[in-house]
Amino acid sequence: MTKLTDLTIAAALNGLNKGEFTSAELTRDHIGAVENARALNAFIVETPELAMEQATASDERRKSGRVGLLEGIPIAMKDLFCTKGVQTTAASKILKGFTPTYESTVSQNMLDQGMVMLGKVSLDEFAMGSANITSGYGNVISPWRANGDDKQRIPGGSSGGSSAAVSARIAMGATGTDTGGSIRQPASVTGIVGIKPTYGRCSRWGVVAFASSLDQAGPLARSVEDCAIMLQAMAGWDQKDSTSVNMPVPDFKAVLGQSIKGLKVGIPKEYRVDGMAPEIDKMWQQGIDWLKDAGAEIVDISLPHTKYALATYYILAPAECSSNLARYDGMRYGNRVEGKDLNETYELTRAAGFGDEVQRRILMGTYVLSAGYYDAYYLKAQKIRALIARDFTEAYKQVDVILTPTTPGSAFVIGEKQDDPLKMYLEDVFTVPVNLAGLPGMSLPAMLDDKGLPLGLQLIGRPFDEETLFKVGSVLEKAAGFTAKPDMGWVNAK
Ligand code: GLN
Repeated sequence: MTKLTDLTIAAALNGLNKGEFTSAELTRDHIGAVENARALNAFIVETPELAMEQATASDERRKSGRVGLLEGIPIAMKDLFCTKGVQTTAASKILKGFTPTYESTVSQNMLDQGMVMLGKVSLDEFAMGSANITSGYGNVISPWRANGDDKQRIPGGSSGGSSAAVSARIAMGATGTDTGGSIRQPASVTGIVGIKPTYGRCSRWGVVAFASSLDQAGPLARSVEDCAIMLQAMAGWDQKDSTSVNMPVPDFKAVLGQSIKGLKVGIPKEYRVDGMAPEIDKMWQQGIDWLKDAGAEIVDISLPHTKYALATYYILAPAECSSNLARYDGMRYGNRVEGKDLNETYELTRAAGFGDEVQRRILMGTYVLSAGYYDAYYLKAQKIRALIARDFTEAYKQVDVILTPTTPGSAFVIGEKQDDPLKMYLEDVFTVPVNLAGLPGMSLPAMLDDKGLPLGLQLIGRPFDEETLFKVGSVLEKAAGFTAKPDMGWVNAK
C-alpha cells in the first residue's frame, strides 16, 4: 500500500471519504515524518498536539457529514501567517516569542475548511530572500541532492520551509507568500507546484507585511489539483483587507483536464536572458512543444520593459518594507534590548533583532524614500512599474496565457551567491514582473536537469484568471509526467 505521506491531497480526501483511514492516522504519520526529517530544519515550531486535536475533531465532523475542502488534511503553515496562540516569528529574532492573539484570514479560512496544522515552517527573514539562508532560525536544507554529490542545497526562498516540507512528503501542502517569487521559485527548485494568485485574491490580513503592494498568499503542493483545492480554501474577499477584491472565487477544480485547443500562448523574447543555463532553454522549448501538441497556438510576444523589472522591484520592495518594519521597535512585539533611553533602546533592539539582509533592505528603502532621492528613485520606479504592467496588458490583447521558465537555474549549493546580493536578486528575474503587474503566476515541475535537480515552468495569466493557469497547468503536468522525488535516505539517517 502507498504510504499515507505519499498521497496527494486529492487522493487523501478520497481515502478519508471512503473510510480507508482517518485524519488521526494520516496526521500521526505526518507528525512521525516531520520528526524523522528534522535534519531539514523546515519547521520553526512543530504543533503535534494541536494537530492531533484538530485531526480528531475533523474525524468527528466527517462522521456527522460536515466535510470541508481540506477536511482532515495535514498542512504546514509559513511562519509569516499569524496563528492564534502559536508563535509567529517571520523567521526574525525580533519576533521571537511573539504569540498572536488572532488568526490570519487565510489560515482561518483553511481551518474553517477542516485543515490540520502541523506547525510553522521557516522562511527567509521577513520573506526577504531566495534561498532561505536569511532565516533567524538557521537555513532550511532541501531534501534534494544532485547526482553524485552530497552538498546541501537551497530549498528556494522565501517559502523554503514550505517547499522543503512538501517535497520531502512531511506535509501534504503548505502555505506560502509571494512578493517577488517566493512561492514559485521554491516550488520550482524542489519539484512541486505553487501558485501566486492575482493580487487581491487572498486576504493579506494577519500576514506579516513585507511589501504591501506586492505580497500575496498562495499554496504549494504536489499536484496542480492539490493547489486548486488549497487555493479554493484560502481565497476570498475579506472586509478586513481593503486590497482584497470582492469577486466570486470560481471552482478551480472544474477546469482541470479541459481542452486547450486554440488557446494562444505567448512566449516573451525578453525572457531569454544572458547567463541562462542551456537546460533552461531546453526545458522551455519542451514546454512549448507540449502545449503545441495539445493544440495550443504559440505566439511570440514582447514585454519590452522586462529588463527594468529587477531594478524596479529592488527599489519598491525595500521602500515598502522600510515603512512596514518600522513597527518593530521593541515596544510592542517580541524582543527588546534595553538602552539608556528610548532612542538607544530602539537602536539596540533593531540592531540585534534584524539580520543583515533585512537591515540592507531597510537602509535601501529609507534611502530611496528620502527627500531629494524620492523623485529620482521611488517615483521613477513607480512609473516603470506602470509600464511593466502595461506590457502585459498589451500582450494579453494577443494571447491568453504566457509561458516562461520559473528560475534561471536549478537549486544551488547553500553558501553560493551568499556574498553577492546582486547575484541572489537575479534568482527573481522571471518572477518579479508578475508581482509588479499584480498577475497570477504558477510554477510546475517540468523535468530534471543533468544534475538530477528539478526545473520548473511558469505560467502567467490575466488578472483574476487563475482558471486558465489551472487548465494549462494540468495539461503540462500530464505531458511532463514528473514523478521524481527526493531520496530521503540521508535525511532520515540523521
Ligand atoms: N526573492 C525576492 C526577495 O528577496 C522575493 C521574496 C518574496 O517573494 N517574498 O525579495
